[in-house]
Amino acid sequence: MSTSADTSVATLTDYEPVIGLEVHVQLSTASKIFCSCSTQFGAAPNTNVCPVCLGMPGALPVLNRKAVEFAVRAAMALNCRVNETSIFARKNYFYPDLPKGYQISQYDKPLAEFGFIEIGAKGKDTDKSVRATRIGITRVHLEEDAGKSLHEGFSGSDEKTAIDLNRTGVPLIEIVSEPEIATPDEAYEYLTRLKEIILYTGVSDCNMEEGSLRCDANVSVRPRGQKELGTKTEIKNVNSFRFIREALVYEIARQVEVIEGGGKITQETRLYNAHEGRTYGMRSKEQVHDYRYFPEPDLLPLVVDEKWKAEIAKTLPELPEARRVRFVNEFEVTEYDAQVLTAAKSLADQFEAAAKAAKNPKRVANLVQGELMGRLKAMGAETEQSPISMNGVAASADLVESGAISGKMLKDLYDLCFERGKDFPEVYEEEGRPQQSSDTSVLEKIIDEVVAASPKQLEQYRAGKKTMLGFFVGQVMKASKGQANPQLVNELLTKKLE
Ligand SMILES: [Zn+2]
Repeated sequence: MSTSADTSVATLTDYEPVIGLEVHVQLSTASKIFCSCSTQFGAAPNTNVCPVCLGMPGALPVLNRKAVEFAVRAAMALNCRVNETSIFARKNYFYPDLPKGYQISQYDKPLAEFGFIEIGAKGKDTDKSVRATRIGITRVHLEEDAGKSLHEGFSGSDEKTAIDLNRTGVPLIEIVSEPEIATPDEAYEYLTRLKEIILYTGVSDCNMEEGSLRCDANVSVRPRGQKELGTKTEIKNVNSFRFIREALVYEIARQVEVIEGGGKITQETRLYNAHEGRTYGMRSKEQVHDYRYFPEPDLLPLVVDEKWKAEIAKTLPELPEARRVRFVNEFEVTEYDAQVLTAAKSLADQFEAAAKAAKNPKRVANLVQGELMGRLKAMGAETEQSPISMNGVAASADLVESGAISGKMLKDLYDLCFERGKDFPEVYEEEGRPQQSSDTSVLEKIIDEVVAASPKQLEQYRAGKKTMLGFFVGQVMKASKGQANPQLVNELLTKKLE
């Protein structure tokens, strides 16, 4: 089956994909959601367990208050309405990594509903492959994680599967989007924004390798203009946003091909193989679930009253979207750069602290935008990989501000920083703290030489072509290897030429 990029582009003109995402986020509490076992990652298998999370008969769950706080904080950051009363429910199914035979989750009365995430920046300079729109969030609910099956040669056997129950009972929130995502690019953007927001709230480390953030995608296609939805498939167990995008591109093309060939889409769960770049249907016996949800009899309804909500609301930091708007207004950076600068809270904090400590905050913003981002982009590096720290940028900005170095010298020093992989203050020291030349006698000598070497230009200038001044300034700057103080050169030249 061909699923090249060409195919997917062609299919999108006739068919409209409809995508909804379900994201599981592990909350960074010290202990599990219904017992006091540790949630520490990487402990020896089956050491962080007790009768409650092992599902022993008669053991009773006790709700972790911190998990509720974290879930509410995340829900608020996702613009959700937090329900005063929500109900835990048993989701019944049999699987070896689920010792109780059911998972405690929430069903018809979830913790929070009716949220949204803004996607697509509105600036002129931003990528237009993603609409600037809001993607609705249907619900955010609390649940416990299941254990982990260890296949593939664990204990030296290809036939046996081992179970690690350390993860059983670790608190999760499930964030379910409305089926309002129109393209794989938008799905990628939605996930990027979601992760950014959750990281800002500090309720999870969102570490995908350790499974702290997991995503399932529901996707269907329908002929453009048709109202009713097509049959959807669910893509499970994809461990990076890039792979989700690839899996969706593949799956959309596959569905269109099936329909175009006169076939029908089967509602099923599919797995994505990143090596092969394609999805596979799982066996049919795992496709159909009847979870027989019913209210969890061992837990009271969860009540988050107005007072508690207000307390939690106070712990919400300024969120990335608001910060972006503020950076654009306060530092006059472009929408795109505001996005890069706010992508991680730590980077945004560093930038803001450095900018505010500098003599001229806007100059710091300009340098980050013009000199730093430009160089990083050219080498395809991320902002975190920059050899020049935000404090380094601020230090260099102050040197230009005070007239100690020229803009040209700053550029050269930045080049050296990137060559040597060192921060600005270090390279500035290594170069012997260069200063732009404000020594009048030295500059006058250079000016004399330049003027003497350009009789034609001098004639033109004296004949009234005042724009030739720029030529002379350029020649003097060049002769001084960029170290002359441009303002002073301007002054001296004007005097000399008149
Ligand atoms: Zn336990």
